[in-house]
Formats: sequence, structure tokens, C-alpha cells
Amino acid sequence: MYNVVVIGAGIVGALTARELSKYNLNILLLDKEMEVSNGTTKANSAIVHAGYDPYVGSNKARLNVEGNRMFGKLCHDLDVPFKKVGSLVVAFSEEEMLKVKELYERGAANGVPDMDIIQKERLKEIEPNISNDAYGALWAKTAGITSPYELCIAACENAACNGAHIKLNTKVLKIDKLDDGFVVKTGKEDYKTQYIVNAAGLFADEINKMLGGEEFNITPRKGEYCLFDRGQGDLAKHILFQTPTKMGKGILVTPTVHGNLIMGPSSENIDDKYDLSTTDEGLAKVLAQGSRTINKFSRRDIITSFTGLRASVEGGDFIINSPTYGAVNAAGIDSPGLTAAPAIAKELVSMLNQMGLKLEEKDFNPKRHKPKSFRDMTDEEKAEAIEKNPLYGRIICRCETVSEGEIVDAIKGPAGARTVDGVKRRVRAGMGRCQGGFCMPRVVEILSRELNIPYMDVVKDNKDGYIFTGRLKDKLSKGGEADDK
Ligand SMILES: Cc1cc2nc3c(=O)[nH]c(=O)nc-3n(C[C@H](O)[C@H](O)[C@H](O)COP(=O)(O)OP(=O)(O)OC[C@H]3O[C@@H](n4cnc5c(N)ncnc54)[C@H](O)[C@@H]3O)c2cc1C
Repeated sequence: MYNVVVIGAGIVGALTARELSKYNLNILLLDKEMEVSNGTTKANSAIVHAGYDPYVGSNKARLNVEGNRMFGKLCHDLDVPFKKVGSLVVAFSEEEMLKVKELYERGAANGVPDMDIIQKERLKEIEPNISNDAYGALWAKTAGITSPYELCIAACENAACNGAHIKLNTKVLKIDKLDDGFVVKTGKEDYKTQYIVNAAGLFADEINKMLGGEEFNITPRKGEYCLFDRGQGDLAKHILFQTPTKMGKGILVTPTVHGNLIMGPSSENIDDKYDLSTTDEGLAKVLAQGSRTINKFSRRDIITSFTGLRASVEGGDFIINSPTYGAVNAAGIDSPGLTAAPAIAKELVSMLNQMGLKLEEKDFNPKRHKPKSFRDMTDEEKAEAIEKNPLYGRIICRCETVSEGEIVDAIKGPAGARTVDGVKRRVRAGMGRCQGGFCMPRVVEILSRELNIPYMDVVKDNKDGYIFTGRLKDKLSKGGEADDK
């Protein structure tokens, strides 16, 4: 019998499992996907928001500001990049400056420290490439950027090293209530547990229903992005927001922690929780609106586009409640959910504690160490790494200088990579300009060898994401068409 089953290995579930792993508890983290961080956590703006945006008194306001305070230490402990670059909400008219003032006041009421309203000259000084049409801005110095999927992976690794069990490829289909807990039914095994955490992202409404909670619906809201090559990241020094209007928050432009530039997201309610497609119209809107803020970017340096789906609920606030005794919901966790996640995790554990979960502290190691990437090593360090493991001498991804040794370590590590994108998110193979054009077949080869599975069974990021549909030679020898699939 588990003490707690956490459903969903996104940032909320991962940090909750880690928080629980501080105590003498038997914990199981479940996800339907083949990789951790394969839901919304893998595709968002990666911003650690300051907290002036959410309405005063909301769950979002409280947990955003608290989460922001926790982020620096969390990323330090988990060895994940976090840069406090600060954010600017840029106004393009006198009227928009009034909105900027409103955001400043809301931020102050929410307890956001280190904010300033600045005028055009100062704005130009600190953000030299900003459009000449900019009037002024709200400067929030506590905002930052991180790598959401790296943080999620690190939290899962750290939770696993502290005793939490992780089972992937395991979809929760039904939950039965017992007198002393629950049975969580999956397509494979059933798991008995005293307590449940529902951190199922876009599908938290379905898990809530299985738990018999008061019903709510999650609507996926699509956000499309353009990602620019490294080098373009220098165009923006801060996270650059536009002033929110009745039409929405506008398009942001920001550097990433790895030196790229990102522009987006669009905002469109859709029906399909699995629709991660990008569209010509969506991306055109992103580029047109983004160029209001900074117009010096080069479209030729766009290396990829992607979509993230916000889990939006009526009312717009996070739903943090108990659907039934012994279970807690973290639902409707759209933006600023990444920022708020460390605070949400603490709150969920405290709610379980109030329902009777005993929290007896144990010897917990908060630290997770990520080996230095080959790319960042000095020549001496590279020579030493190759001496210890010759696989470090074989470069697989030339754009990002990723060695075979790093890829093998990423597969063998705790909560290790199982898919091509899992490798990519751990060591950046395929993240560069060619987007895996050259290295993907070699990454497939390594996954096949290390996981001892046929080459053909290696997938991109989920069980339906087949890369190969057959051997050309086999098809031709059978007299079939080479392109019949
Ligand atoms: C476009 C966009 C931009 C954003 N920008 C920011 C930002 O800059 N800053 C910020 O703070 N926040 C941002 N957010 C919000 C942030 O990304 C989310 O709040 C956060 O990632 C949600 O994490 P989660 O763990 O709740 O959900 P997820 O990451 O979606 O994880 C849920 C997990 O549950 C699993 N699951 C679902 N159903 C089942 C089942 N039946 N059985 C087993 N497993 C199941 C899924 O596979 C998934 O892995 C943004 C979101 C979007 C979409």
C-alpha cells in the first residue's frame, strides 16, 4: 500500500513527489506518457513571473509570489539554470502607461518587491533594441527565466533518489474509494494508496470526476511560439511583455536560459487536448505582434515553432481543493503555474497533512547534481572525460556539441530518457539549428542499443510517435511502393 499516489509527472506532480520524499512515506508518481515532463511543462514561455499580473486575493497571486521567492534556491539545489533577468511590461502609449501603473499597484498589493515604473530614456538604456515607439515600462526585477522541462526532470530524479517510485506509460483509468484509501486502476496494475494528488494538467478534470469531486471542465488554450537560434537571444536583455489589453496579454519576447530568443504565445481556445499543431495564421500573428516590441530579429534564424496548451478553467484561478476526503486537486494550473509550482507542492502536502497524512522527517538529500555538459568543459576537462569514458570523445550532435557519453548517461540516469525527445530535453541533442536533422538517426541507434529494443521501436516522444514505418529494402523487395505509408 502506498501512502500517496501522485497522478501526473509535470512540474506540479514532480515537485509534489519531491516535497513528499522529504518524509518517511511510500510514494508513487504516475504518468501516462513515456517520459516525465511530456505535458504542458515541456512547452511554455519558461518565465518565473514576478506576480503583478494575477488578481489580488487569488490563489494565483499568493502562489505566484511565494513560488517566485522559492525559485532561486530550488534551481540551485537541483542544478537547473535560472537567470533573474527581470521583466518589462512595455507601454506604447500614454493610455497604456495607465495600465502599467495599475499593474504596479496590483503587484504592490500582491507583495511583489523590487518594481519600478520607468520612462522611455531609462527603458532605452536598459533595453537598447526596444522599439522606438515604446513609451515606458513596468520593470519587475524579481522575474526570471528557467528551463521548465529540465527542472521537472531534475525534480523527478531527486524525488527518485530520495525514495519515490516513478511509473511511466501508466494511464489512470478509474479510481475506487475504499474505507481506508483508494485503488488507482490503470491499464496495467492497480495501486492501493491512502492519499491521492491530482496533478494531471489538462486532464485534471477527468481525474477529479473519477474522485467524485464537484465537476469543472478544462479547456485547452493554444499558445504558438517561434524559437530563434542562439545568438538572437542577445536582442533582448529582459523578458519583454506588451501591456495587456481587453484582447489579451499580447506577445512576449524573451531570451532563453540557453541563449535563444523566443516569441509568443498566441492565445486560442480549442477542443482537442492533444492538438499541438502550429498554424500559419498563429505564427504570423506572433511575428507581427512580436515585432512591435523588437523588430531587429532575423526570420531566417527561426529554428523551430511549437505549441503549448494552457489548462484553462472557468473563473481563471487555480483550483486547489479536495474533491473527496484523502485526495487533493491541483487543477486549472495555467500560467503562472510553472512559477507557482514549488508553492503549490508545499500547499498540497500541507493539505494532505491536515487530512491525516503523517509527515515524519527523514534523511533527505535536497541536492541533485547535473554533470557538466561536454560543450561547457575546458580542454583539460574534455581530455579527462574522454580518458575516463571514450564515448565522450564521439560527438553526436554537432550543433550543440553533445557527446555519446552524455546521451548514454542520460538514458541510464534515475528517471532516464526513453525517447528521442527525452534525450533532447536532458542533454540538448537535437536542440540546435538543424533540429536533429543530422543527429536523430544516431540518437535512435544509441537508444535502441542502451534500452535493448529494436531500432524500429524507438519513438520521438510518445508511444504513437514512430520515426520509422518500415525498411525501404523490405518494401522494395516485396514489390511494394517505397512511400506507401
Ligand atoms: C503557452 C503557455 C505558456 C506558459 N508560460 C508560462 C510561464 O512563462 N510561466 C509560468 O509560470 N507558467 C507558464 N505556463 C503555465 C505552465 O506551463 C503550467 O502551469 C505548468 O506546466 C503545468 O504543469 P502541470 O504539472 O500542472 O501539468 P502538465 O505539465 O501538463 O503535467 C500533467 C501530467 O499529467 C499526466 N496525466 C494526465 N492524465 C493522466 C492520467 N489519466 N494518468 C496518468 N497521467 C496523466 C500528463 O501526461 C502530464 O505529464 C504556460 C503555459 C502555456 C501553455
